[in-house]
Amino acid sequence: MITIDEALRLIQQHTMVKTAIDVAAIESLGMTLAEDVASDVDSPPYDKALVDGYAVDAADLKSGSARLKIVEEVTAGRMPTQPIGPGLATRIMTGAPLPKGCDAAVMVETTHVEPDPDGGLGRVIIRGKPMVPGNNVMPRAQAMRRGQKVLSVGSRIRPVEIGVLAEVGRGHVKAIAQPRVAVLSTGDEVVPAETTPKAAQIRNSNGPLLASLVAARGATPIELGIAPDEPEPLRTAIRRGLEADLLILSGGVSAGVLDLVPKVLDELGVREVFHKVKLKPGKPVWFGTFSGNGSDKLVFGLPGNPVGALVAGMLLVRPALLRMAGQPFAPTPTFHAALTKAFQHKGQRPTYHPAVVRREENGARVEPLPWHGSADLFTLSRANAFIHFPAGQLTFKEGERVELIEL
Ligand code: AMP
Ligand code: MG
Repeated sequence: MITIDEALRLIQQHTMVKTAIDVAAIESLGMTLAEDVASDVDSPPYDKALVDGYAVDAADLKSGSARLKIVEEVTAGRMPTQPIGPGLATRIMTGAPLPKGCDAAVMVETTHVEPDPDGGLGRVIIRGKPMVPGNNVMPRAQAMRRGQKVLSVGSRIRPVEIGVLAEVGRGHVKAIAQPRVAVLSTGDEVVPAETTPKAAQIRNSNGPLLASLVAARGATPIELGIAPDEPEPLRTAIRRGLEADLLILSGGVSAGVLDLVPKVLDELGVREVFHKVKLKPGKPVWFGTFSGNGSDKLVFGLPGNPVGALVAGMLLVRPALLRMAGQPFAPTPTFHAALTKAFQHKGQRPTYHPAVVRREENGARVEPLPWHGSADLFTLSRANAFIHFPAGQLTFKEGERVELIEL
């Protein structure tokens, strides 16, 4: 049996980044940029007013007070036509371009207007603070210059990146899409969630659980339902699953007489990389690769018991999903907290135990929950973390720090 670290090393070795595609920018959320993106505009594209008020020559407002003739009114979206000279001002709105000869804007709140005897737009009386060039204006290209690189290859595309792509006029972009992940549950006893189980049957919680785990990581799940513990239908269902980038099976990978999954995978040409990891729950996990349609696909056979499936999915499948989507292959992040009470742990394998973490004044505290093992999914609905206990017989004191992963 190999360790979790060894399993991760082998998974990393076999995980290929998907080929980049050309995609509409609006469809690229959650993908990874496969090109550097440069701006085709200055931003802002002109010296721009940041307030509603008057565009002025700061030299006229060294004292903060002035009486200026209004020559024009400029709203956002319109270009000024009149240059400004000494003694003149332009009524201007937030976002509008500054006229020539102005280098500052005065807030409307510090002004009032008097009519001009010779008509026109009147005179503005300003009683504010002394002004210097640049007050309340954003100079052209202050945020970014035309030709400047604004997004880098490898960045994950978030709503912010979608906005920047629009700002620089990119309707399409080269990106690495999220993997498509088939999820297949196996077991003669497993029935769809919407049915009432007969004696000796259980509902399929793994299918929806694993599909959601995949979706929560941004990848695209394809639910294939349930295959029985019979070679022929199992083979047919697995063949379908191998059309995806990654196939996650649950059940049928332990040592029971009907645990057919490894054998059927082998018959279909899926090469085993490892079977069984020093991990509790999650030990029976199986991992292999398949070459088909010109790409290398990954196959994970997770245990049937839901918590084992979840733990193996979080620790082992998640980093592969990230890497396929062009992100760095990284183990699940850990953090630490102090135990709220003394705790005895005994186990031959590193164990992930459900727990509740609370942020308190003196740092995070964690309470291990009473738990009935890998078939007890319900307890996890009250947990927000797993404590990672190393193998061995260990006595932890209250306040001792333990390692955690977020649930
Ligand atoms: P197996 O790994 O196939 O030996 O399954 C171990 C146990 O996990 C079974 O006895 C079931 O109780 C449970 N199990 C298997 N598949 C599922 C599933 N899709 N949803 C919930 N529990 C399952
Ligand atoms: Mg089974």
